[in-house]
Amino acid sequence: MTFVKGLKCRECGQDYPKEPLHVCETCFGPLEIVYDYDLIKKSVTREKIASRPKNLWRYRELLPIDGEPKAGLYSGFTPLVRAHRLGEVLGVKELYIKDDSVNHPTFSYKDRVVSVAISKAIEFGFDTVSCASTGNLANSVAAHAAKAGLNCYVFIPDGLEQGKIIGSAIYGPRTVSIKGNYDDVNRLCSEIGDKYGWAFVNVNLRPYYAEGAKTHAFEIAEQLGWKLPRHIVVASAGGTILPKLAKAFKELKRVGLVEDGECKIYSAQAAGCAPIIQALKKGTDLINPVKPNTIASSIAIGNPADGYYVIQAIRESGGWGECVTDEEILDGIKLLARTEGIFTEPAGGTEVAVARKLIQQGRIPRDESIVISITGNGYKTLEIVTESVEQPFVINATLKNFDDLYMSLTDAVHAKAAAGKG
Ligand SMILES: *Cc1c(COP(=O)(O)O)cnc(C)c1O
Ligand SMILES: [Zn+2]
Repeated sequence: MTFVKGLKCRECGQDYPKEPLHVCETCFGPLEIVYDYDLIKKSVTREKIASRPKNLWRYRELLPIDGEPKAGLYSGFTPLVRAHRLGEVLGVKELYIKDDSVNHPTFSYKDRVVSVAISKAIEFGFDTVSCASTGNLANSVAAHAAKAGLNCYVFIPDGLEQGKIIGSAIYGPRTVSIKGNYDDVNRLCSEIGDKYGWAFVNVNLRPYYAEGAKTHAFEIAEQLGWKLPRHIVVASAGGTILPKLAKAFKELKRVGLVEDGECKIYSAQAAGCAPIIQALKKGTDLINPVKPNTIASSIAIGNPADGYYVIQAIRESGGWGECVTDEEILDGIKLLARTEGIFTEPAGGTEVAVARKLIQQGRIPRDESIVISITGNGYKTLEIVTESVEQPFVINATLKNFDDLYMSLTDAVHAKAAAGKG
């Protein structure tokens, strides 16, 4: 049984068959999946979903596959953590962390989109999968390709963190590092895709790939007892996830899984690469490409393919967006770790810092439910925080040595407290 009718151009509405296509031949608009929502409404219930394994395929009627899922059988269904301690610091009543830093198998939100893309690549009969990536996507494509026994080429900009490079290489793909930034990588990959006929998950399979991002929102709604949060903050890079969260919330209402409710969506970017936030603040839909310069490498995309749709989705939802400096991003990483015990990478630090800023500005009210999406894992980007954490105290293995150390540490605390009082 399939619930997918075909593809349709988002701009001119022209119909296309279910094939590895991504742009409209007439107007160059992006193609989107068209579902038979009436049929889905008749087929899917909360009980049916609840009876299924805890992975992202529990929402399979709203995902663009035709047969059984062929990848990602352990991906998704990440924790929605009630964040009391962070909530207290931010001064808000009902705060949650949607924690994709522990997504299976490569610890970022990308395991969602890649599960769907690789499943689809297998359905289409591709033997080689590929991607243009800022790091996390390459990790996920390489891991899922290994599990599926597919050939894999991943393309990344040079200068990425070790954790991101080795986090692909270990799965045995061919990694090609391009001298340039992500936008250079992406341009080259369009040409390679055309010439070699590979499944580029975020190029020719993009309409299918992008649908996987909806599962982040489906899970939040299910985990809240089939309700929408009132506010959600998420990072924007190429602009895939944010508009898909908006689409997912609409679909849940359309097929009757959620009764009503509105969720305002907020985009988070690094000040060193904020083309979407700049356009949003200027009140235009036109994104002016920028040259990225930030520690948040996984969201450093200066010319976001779907930036226009991010702005549309933000406006339609009544949300907003902000950008934060690298210093604020580091503070965001540490704040999340020290209040909630969750270690995220700079993209997550951006999400926390932007949420904090929007709350301080009064853009997000303090007495309504708020979700901060944490989209990546800090263990991949250790070098970013090495200098800003305390180094270990090195001592000999004697109690005396520890006593002395402990004394000096507690003296320091007392001294600090006394100085504070004086
Ligand atoms: C890719 C990515 C995002 C968001 O990217 P979009 O292209 O806007 O969907 C956010 N956080 C992390 C860690 C990512 O790797
Ligand atoms: Zn078109």
